[in-house]
Amino acid sequence: MKYTVILLGKKTVAKNTVAFEFERPKDFTFCAGQYATFKLIDPVFTDEKGPMRAMSFASPPSADTLLIAMRMSDSAFKKSICELSCGDVVELEGPFGKLVLDKDDTLPIVCIAGGIGITPFMSMISDEQEKGFPREITLLYSNCNPEEATFFDELNAIIHKNLTVVSTMTDIEKNTDWRGECKKIDQDIIERYVSNDSRSLFYLCGSTGMVVAMKTILESMGVPKDHIKMELFGV
Ligand SMILES: Cc1cc2nc3c(=O)[nH]c(=O)nc-3n(C[C@H](O)[C@H](O)[C@H](O)COP(=O)(O)OP(=O)(O)OC[C@H]3O[C@@H](n4cnc5c(N)ncnc54)[C@H](O)[C@@H]3O)c2cc1C
Repeated sequence: MKYTVILLGKKTVAKNTVAFEFERPKDFTFCAGQYATFKLIDPVFTDEKGPMRAMSFASPPSADTLLIAMRMSDSAFKKSICELSCGDVVELEGPFGKLVLDKDDTLPIVCIAGGIGITPFMSMISDEQEKGFPREITLLYSNCNPEEATFFDELNAIIHKNLTVVSTMTDIEKNTDWRGECKKIDQDIIERYVSNDSRSLFYLCGSTGMVVAMKTILESMGVPKDHIKMELFGV
C-alpha cells in the first residue's frame, strides 16, 4: 500500500545519524522488524540513484508515529531528506520484509546488528518490552565507537532478565574509557554470550559484508540455515 506521510520531526541520534519521525496513517500496520520504502516528492537534490530508499522502522508497531533512522551521506536522497521541514510529506510504500519475530516465543532470539542495522531490532526490542519480554533476547551490537552507536543509551537503559545487550566497539581509541568488547563479532564472542541452546533463532542485520560474514560463522558453528534470518542493508 502507498501512503503520503507527514514529517513531524528530525533529530541527530548518533554521530552522522539522523532519525525522522512521521505521522502514522490510521490504517497502516506493520510487524516489528519490517521496512518501507520512502520516496521524496520533488527533492532539492537529484542523482542517478533516485529519490527512494528502503528504511526499517525503529519504532514498535504500537507507536502512534513512525520512526526511522539513517546514516547520513552525500547522496541526493540523504541531502534532500535533511532539507525537509516539519509538515512536509513523503511517499511511503509498505510494509515489506520477513525479518520478524517467530510466533513461538519459547524460542530464544539472538539479534546481531552492525551499525545502523540496529533499526529493526530497536523496533523488535521495544515491541517485546511492551509485552513484558516473553522470550529471551540477546543483542550483539557492533559499532566503530560509542558515538556512532545509534540508540545506545536507550538500549542500555532497558533492564530485564530476558534481555542481554552486548556491545562491541571495533575502532576504539586507546585513551577512551570504553571497557567492553573491542573486536568484530566472531565465534568467540558468540560462544561467550549466547547460551548453547540449539533452539536459538539468529537475526542478522547490517551491511552486506557484515551479515554474510556472520552467516558464515554461524553455519560453521552448526546453526541450521532455517534458524538464520537476515536483512541486508547494502554496501
Ligand atoms: C530492507 C532494507 C532496510 C534498510 N533500512 C535502513 C535503515 O533503517 N537505515 C539506514 O540508514 N539504511 C537502511 N537501509 C539502506 C538504505 O536503503 C540505503 O541503501 C543506505 O542508507 C545508503 O543510502 P545512501 O543514499 O547513503 O547511499 P546510495 O546513494 O544509495 O549509495 C549506496 C552506497 O554506494 C556508494 N556509492 C554511491 N554511488 C557510488 C558510485 N558512483 N561509486 C561508488 N560507490 C557509490 C555510496 O557511498 C554508498 O555507500 C536499508 C536497506 C534495505 C534493503
